[in-house]
Amino acid sequence: PPDVEQLGRATWTFLHTTAAYYPEKPTPTQRVNMLTLIRALPVLYPCTHCASHLGETMKEHPPDVSGRVGLSRWFCERHNEVNERLGKEKFDCSIQKLDERWKDGPSD
Ligand code: FAD
Repeated sequence: PPDVEQLGRATWTFLHTTAAYYPEKPTPTQRVNMLTLIRALPVLYPCTHCASHLGETMKEHPPDVSGRVGLSRWFCERHNEVNERLGKEKFDCSIQKLDERWKDGPSD
C-alpha cells in the first residue's frame, strides 16, 4: 500500500500549485479538464479511504472551476476538512495566504 502521508503531501503540493496557476478566466477547455482531473480523484486516488471521503464531501461541495481564486479556495477547504479529521491545524483560505504558500512565497 502507498505511504499515505508522503502521497498526501505530494498530492496537495500538486493540487494547490496547479490551482494557484490556474487562469483567472479559464477557457471552457481548461474548465472541463480541471473538472475531469478533480472528478478522477475519488475514483483513482490510491489511498482508498481518502478517496471515498473526498467523493462524499464533493457531493456537498461541488468543485469550483470558475477561476483560480475560487478553485484555490475550494482545494483549501477540502484540505481543511482532512486537517480537521486528522486533528491538524486549519489553514487560512484567503487568496493572499494561499498565494504566499503556493505561488509567490513570502513577500518578506
Ligand atoms: P499536509 O496536510 O500534506 O499539507 C502539506 C502542506 O500544505 C502544509 O505543510 C501546509 O503548508 C499546506 N496546507 C495545509 N493545509 C492547507 C490547506 N487547507 N490549504 C492549502 N495548503 C494547506 N490522510 C489520512 O490519514 N486520512 C485521509 O482521509 C486523508 N485524505 C486525504 C485526501 C486527499 C484528497 C489528499 C490529497 C490527502 C489525504 N490525506 C489523508 C493525507 C493528509 O491530508 C496529509 O497529506 C498527510 O497526513 C501529511 O500531512 P502533513 O502534516 O505533512 O501536511
